[in-house]
Amino acid sequence: MNDKPMQALAPSFSLRDRVFDTGEVCPKCGAHIMGLKFFDLDGQPRILKKPCPCRDAEIKAEDAAKKARDRERARQHRREWAEIPNMFSDATLKGYRRVPGTEEAFEAVKEYLLSREENWREGKGLILMGAVGCGKTHLGCAVLNCALEDGYHAAYWNVPQQLEMMMYGHADNTDQMRILDKALLADVLLLDNLGAEKASDWTRKELVIILDERYRENRPTIVTSNLMLTDGELRNTCGARAYSRLCSDHFKAVALTAADYRRKQA
Ligand SMILES: [Zn+2]
Repeated sequence: MNDKPMQALAPSFSLRDRVFDTGEVCPKCGAHIMGLKFFDLDGQPRILKKPCPCRDAEIKAEDAAKKARDRERARQHRREWAEIPNMFSDATLKGYRRVPGTEEAFEAVKEYLLSREENWREGKGLILMGAVGCGKTHLGCAVLNCALEDGYHAAYWNVPQQLEMMMYGHADNTDQMRILDKALLADVLLLDNLGAEKASDWTRKELVIILDERYRENRPTIVTSNLMLTDGELRNTCGARAYSRLCSDHFKAVALTAADYRRKQA
């Protein structure tokens, strides 16, 4: 008997008795304010005034505004976490200036984004290869921005910079973990400038950790590199194991040959 909720012990009204006209009239819409009688958890009778149609609309609008604010906050949080460089924070495919030599890469990214749900589910990525300044990073960041707008946790990871931060004591252990975790956990990751790092056994080991983990977990990675997949240099720089991941069916590689995208854009 004691474990029964209190309201079960209280006398109950039929629904018809519970709803009543409070006698109040909304000054705005003129509707009668209806009341609902109920018993609270302590068994005390209470009255809940039901909102009139105009108040009801206000409540719905307030709810929608709060949801919009929450969505925007989550979006801002994702953007901060992504750490996309300011220069590319608005990079889109639409804003990409196509110059001769970039068509194939542009089309590859466009195709990739058109089937992004499927690509991201299957952990499929892209490798964009070409000389410094040919627009690879813009294309890579366009993918990240698209993922962010879709609600994914995307992240930018400049390979030489991040590895250096992890290595040369610019970062304590927590920072090191934070930097590595971002590369491991991002729903969509851009590894920018792979192969430009000062290579060592340590950098190769870190890259294997990242690429292996992402491969196993089917997390998509976009890679940009100044080196070509086909020449031996990339293999030397990032090591045989990481290189074999890049050559797997998780990646589609495409070359850009535009001379200097940034100069031409100016
Ligand atoms: Zn009203």
